[in-house]
Parts: sequence; structure tokens; C-alpha cells
Amino acid sequence: MSRLADLDWKTYEARVQSGEAVILLPIGAIEQHGPHMSMNPDVLIPEAIGLGVAASLPNALVAPPIAYGYKSQVKSGGGNFFPGTTCINGKTLIDTVHDVVVALARHGNRRFVLINGHYENSMFIVEGIDLALTALRRDGIDAKVLVLSYWDYVNQDTIATVFPDGFTGWDVEHGGVLETSLMLHLHPNLVDMDKTVDHPPATFPPYDRFPADPSWVPESGTLSSARKASAEHGKLLFDVCVAGIQESIRGEFG
Ligand code: ZN
Ligand code: MN
Repeated sequence: MSRLADLDWKTYEARVQSGEAVILLPIGAIEQHGPHMSMNPDVLIPEAIGLGVAASLPNALVAPPIAYGYKSQVKSGGGNFFPGTTCINGKTLIDTVHDVVVALARHGNRRFVLINGHYENSMFIVEGIDLALTALRRDGIDAKVLVLSYWDYVNQDTIATVFPDGFTGWDVEHGGVLETSLMLHLHPNLVDMDKTVDHPPATFPPYDRFPADPSWVPESGTLSSARKASAEHGKLLFDVCVAGIQESIRGEFG
């Protein structure tokens, strides 16, 4: 069993005491992803990847995801003004990452892999890790943390297969082919391809503006079309991410 919170505390204690366990912590967001998909792909995708990684790493345990993420931004998540998009302050995310890593380390864990599924979280996660390691070091605890965003494992060959008409970048993939394909593979019941809105990839000026201007964002809430998403490509994307992350973990933790 690789879901950490499904264990009873005695079994958990026995598995993590030695410090050899690898804790996978998915971090996501609750955010609209267009009219064709649920609002939780940023949570469900890294969680599923974590479980896929753990399936062939007997030491690995997948912690319950941090489901809420930093504020959706117009140019990467559509913006923080859509009904359903439910975000937390940067300092809340920093504190949450810090608190969870410190608590798990106090149980004996020394090896962590944080799997991010929401672009806007990135540097707040890094800050949470930095503060957690500083606090732990003061108590004489040395832990090691890897942090990654899963899409960085998608290689050029896979990009060429999944985006045959050309790839416009991960930032406009919000609700597009990447996430929709992965969800069709992992949670097809949460996708309705009949509701996808076909539009060209969103284009933005080189600056951001605050308060955000909703007219910058396609009315659908997606930043590119999901029309060409498929479960087959979702499996390809999933497998390449799982294999790549496993390789990173073996390289860093043996
Ligand atoms: Zn997303
Ligand atoms: Mn997101």
C-alpha cells in the first residue's frame, strides 16, 4: 500500500523510522479548467503520477496532496476571478509546505519528493522547503528534498507526438491538450470532450496587469484548445513522467 494516510500509525512508524522511505507530496490547486473538465486536474494529475512512481519503488509513500494552491494568474491559469477557482495566499502555501515537511521529518522521514501540478505554486514551494530545512537543521535533522513540476519531464519526442501542429509552450497549456489528455487517461469520468471550446492559443502582452483584466482571457477559461486531446496521448504523457521521476529518485536516493 503506497497511500501514506491509509496506513495505521504503527505500520507507518515501522515504514518510515529508518529514514529510508521516500515521501511523495503532490501539490496542486483548485482552479477552473474550461467547461469540459473538473476543477481538480492540478491535484489529481500529480497525485496519480505519485502513485504511479510509488508502484515500482517499494520505499515510497504518497502523502495526501496539498489541494489548494497559489492564486491563478491570467497568463498561466486564466486568472483568479472565475467561479470555482479557489486560491490561497503565497504565505499560506509557504507555511503549509513548511509545516507538512517538518511534521513528516519529525516522524523520521529524511527523503522527500514534492510533485507540483500548478505552475503558480513554484517559488512558494521552494520557500517552504528552504524554511523547513532551516528549521530542521536547527534541531540536528538533515533532510533532502527534490522538487519538480511534472511537465518538465515531457521530452521533445513526446511533445512532437502530442502536439503535431506545433507546441506553443506550457504556460498556455492550461486546460489544453496536456492536462485534458492526462485526465482522459486517469479520470475520464471528469472530462466531457463534447464541451471543449476550440480556439487558438491565447496571446498576451509581455507584461502583467493588476487588477487583472478578464478580457485578456478566452471566455472558455482555457488558454488553448483541448480538441486534440486523447486518452492515448494521456497514457504516453503519464508514462514518460512516471519513468523520468523514478529515474531522478533512484539517482538521488539510490
Ligand atoms: Zn492546470
Ligand atoms: Mn493550474
